[in-house]
Amino acid sequence: MTEMTEATRATGVLASNRPSGGDADTGAGDGAEAGRWDLEAIRAQFPILSREVNGHPLAYLDNAASSQQPLRVLNRVERYLREQHANVHRGVHQLSAEATEAYEDARRSVAAHAGTADPAEIVFTRGTTEAVNLVASSWGDAFVGAGDGIVLTKMEHHSNLVPWQLLADRTGCDLHFVDVTPGGTLDLDDFDRLLEKRPRLVACTHVSNSLGTLNPVREIVDRAHAAGALTLIDGAQAAPHMLTDVAGIGCDFYAFSSHKMCGPTGVGALWARRELLAEMPPYQGGGEMISEVRLEGSSWAQVPHKFEAGTPNISGVVGFGEAARFLADLGPEAIASHENTLKSAALNRLGEIEGLHLYGPREGRTAVFSFTYGDIHPHDLSTILDQRGIAIRAGHHCNQPLMDHYGISATARASFYFYNSPEEIDALCDGLAMAAEVFGGIA
Ligand code: PLP
Repeated sequence: MTEMTEATRATGVLASNRPSGGDADTGAGDGAEAGRWDLEAIRAQFPILSREVNGHPLAYLDNAASSQQPLRVLNRVERYLREQHANVHRGVHQLSAEATEAYEDARRSVAAHAGTADPAEIVFTRGTTEAVNLVASSWGDAFVGAGDGIVLTKMEHHSNLVPWQLLADRTGCDLHFVDVTPGGTLDLDDFDRLLEKRPRLVACTHVSNSLGTLNPVREIVDRAHAAGALTLIDGAQAAPHMLTDVAGIGCDFYAFSSHKMCGPTGVGALWARRELLAEMPPYQGGGEMISEVRLEGSSWAQVPHKFEAGTPNISGVVGFGEAARFLADLGPEAIASHENTLKSAALNRLGEIEGLHLYGPREGRTAVFSFTYGDIHPHDLSTILDQRGIAIRAGHHCNQPLMDHYGISATARASFYFYNSPEEIDALCDGLAMAAEVFGGIA
């Protein structure tokens, strides 16, 4: 996979081509009918986007941290809570049956988003972080030993690094890190060198949350498999922007979060091949995940329930399912096309600003822009932009080793989503000009 448009598991199905009818919550018209991208109609579905911040229209450019939720998701969660709430799986009464159906229906729509025909391959978690921890604990403790290798990269989010450090502490396995080029891509020659160590697993981000780099995950997976390693892809920054094609990527594990793809917080998913899930021991023990419990010992439920101990975040999962359906109805190609337009425009505009240093590649990237601006501290930049209603993020973005790699402690990061407008790029650039003025010019 190289460019976003190629990366989308494009169906070419826009809202107008889908069967009509369906859930009354979905609301009429999502803004992508008949191949049109009606930005105003799309934005109207996100109530928060019409609010003001500090007397200015909100320009929400912090989507890599968390995206906003459309009415469809908010309404679906509310309907679940108002009309359908009960605990799932265990009850025989009507509400429990409805809650269970809503929960399992969400699993089907999240499975469709991930690109698997088997919903049992979707384990609901608290998010990408917990999905990686699940694999590191369950699969790692069972199948990784002292001296085994795990290959990561220097651009991993802490979520796809610290769980492996903890595994290394427990087992004595060795962690190896693929280098990142000055241009912000993975050094695949270095990767090949590390594969000579015959690691047990390669765990790599699909899209860098700091650099925006779209990694060639298919190639990475193929090379890893050829070297005998399993593969985990951190899809937190990819799943919001494209329909994931786990079969096409060929990976063994894929992790993603609801709250970065128009869904609620505190929920996400691990996709894994069913045979792997079947042979992995439980991650946590408790209710829901057992088949039988005796004082002498217990046996486990089938996958995926074996990995979902305790009462899950039912309303969150229901919202997650609706978010996945919402993205599918907007259409992956339409989403990618608008985001590509924003990306090119932002790249050009930011590239013209003297003293602004943009990290990450020009090609093969998403609309996530990390930058420094002269010697203005990223936190100061963020504060000044906030005064104009522009929400960006400043800091290490849970990428401290990557920041070390570039010899910096922080960047400012503006990250776009399909509901952002070209005017918000203007607002960002105007805000940066104002910051330069406040600081008396750019050093
Ligand atoms: N991986 C990447 C690439 C991310 O960008 C993030 C969050 O920013 C995570 C993992 C962690 O996601 P969550 O906090 O939803 O578990």
